[in-house]
Amino acid sequence: MTTATAPQTTATGYPDTQLFIDGQWCDAEGGKTMGVFNPATGQEIGRLAHASRADLDRALAAAQKGFETWRATPAHERAALMRKAAQLFRERADATARHLTLEQGKPLAEAKGEVLAACDVIDWMAAEGQRVYGRIVPPRDLRGTAHVIRQPVGPVAAFTPWNFPVNQVVRKLSAALATGCSIIVKAPEETPASPAALIRAFVDAGVPAGVVQLVYGVPAEISEYLIPHPVIRKITFTGSTPVGKQLAALAGQHMKRATMELGGHAPVIVCEDADIDLAIKAAAGAKFRNAGQVCISPTRFLVAKPIAAEFTKRFAAQAEKTTVGDGLAEGTRMGPLANARRVTAMQALTDDAVKRGGTVAAGGKKVGDAGNFWAPTVLADVPLDADVFNHEPFGPMAVVHAFDTLDQALHEANRLPFGLAGYAFTQSLKNAHQISQQLEVGLLWINQPAAAWPELPFGGVKDSGYGSEGGPEALEAYLTTKSVSTFCG
Ligand code: NAD
Repeated sequence: MTTATAPQTTATGYPDTQLFIDGQWCDAEGGKTMGVFNPATGQEIGRLAHASRADLDRALAAAQKGFETWRATPAHERAALMRKAAQLFRERADATARHLTLEQGKPLAEAKGEVLAACDVIDWMAAEGQRVYGRIVPPRDLRGTAHVIRQPVGPVAAFTPWNFPVNQVVRKLSAALATGCSIIVKAPEETPASPAALIRAFVDAGVPAGVVQLVYGVPAEISEYLIPHPVIRKITFTGSTPVGKQLAALAGQHMKRATMELGGHAPVIVCEDADIDLAIKAAAGAKFRNAGQVCISPTRFLVAKPIAAEFTKRFAAQAEKTTVGDGLAEGTRMGPLANARRVTAMQALTDDAVKRGGTVAAGGKKVGDAGNFWAPTVLADVPLDADVFNHEPFGPMAVVHAFDTLDQALHEANRLPFGLAGYAFTQSLKNAHQISQQLEVGLLWINQPAAAWPELPFGGVKDSGYGSEGGPEALEAYLTTKSVSTFCG
């Protein structure tokens, strides 16, 4: 690991963040605020409005009103407004990326990539919203008609996390707006300015009052109030599996539609015939993106025994040469972890692995005294019952394990309750086919890094949740189906 030089810029210019309710940017009723901290320095960089129950009530009333307006707006007009928002957000990419790095820590280039990818998502969803077709069914009595229509489900409550503050909002917001739903976004308190900039692009593009609301506060209090509320017809959550299970249970109790994008623990199967250069570049490189705080981050490297030692050595070398530093500093390839909780988790996983006989091939330690920096870490010789093999690290930590047969690797890959992303490297068509058939995941990338394009479904199986945040399936989640049969006489 190398360390980047000091940043050229300071936190100056980071905005305070307000709520957005019923077409107005506003402070919380009662004026409550909370601090926002730069994870690279630990310094407070801004303040954030903290919604009260009264603010939530106003947001709910506005969302109901906004739904009536938006559902009556033709898909073609909705799409035009969305494209305008995408264009405004694109024009503001540099400023938003800088705020994103200040609040979340990721390198500036990654932050800008996230903003531009969000514009791509908006454009794609806008177009797809114009293809929400029903169908005509041949009626049994020819004096009548039978057809199926699709309608927006209603006001949505969306709960999004801090790892991709823009990306996690944009998939939900765009799918909701493309289908004619209104939405209340409860965005992450740790990283509020960049999702607020996304909402601002929609506001400046002319979204009618009440269609979009943005709130922050105590996550559990907000979800416990919004999910059962009769105005809300659908919920969507991205975050950890334990919280997802609680929210899904609450949604079930109140018969609310739900999309759950939860934790993962992605296996990477590297067969003996793999192109090792490619595997190192694609999967090992991807491990340290966003400091590993990615639900599809490759973590459990299951490598064929004859190449395991060589793979580990090269992976560790790649980790060691990853430049760690402030995300605003020139040359930084990996920033700090987003909060101190993640550093504590990395330490505990490393200690447990070493206690059980594992070796630290790279990293395995905190970096510096200020900020939440953890060295890119590769662990080897770790037994399968170690915590790191069973709990999602959600940080810059990978673990290598050697296997004898592909069946063994698949068995290990499928052993955990998670089933979000998986990766495989092989030059054998037979291996690729077996892996694609048998790996229990919602997303599989073979001989390439992850490609989370908006046109591809994005979601998991098993404890990683249900529903999809990409492809036509993403819009399905916001639509109801009505069968209409008419006797015409
Ligand atoms: P956490 O479970 O406390 O929080 C995760 C997210 O859920 C946060 O944004 C938080 O504000 C929100 N949240 C928590 N409780 C909530 C509630 N009752 N109602 C509504 N929202 C709620 O964990 P954390 O320490 O912030 O993050 C660590 C873990 O979260 C990781 O180990 C990872 O598994 C998971 N996570 C997953 C993703 C993802 O992309 N799937 C993103 C961020 C975090």
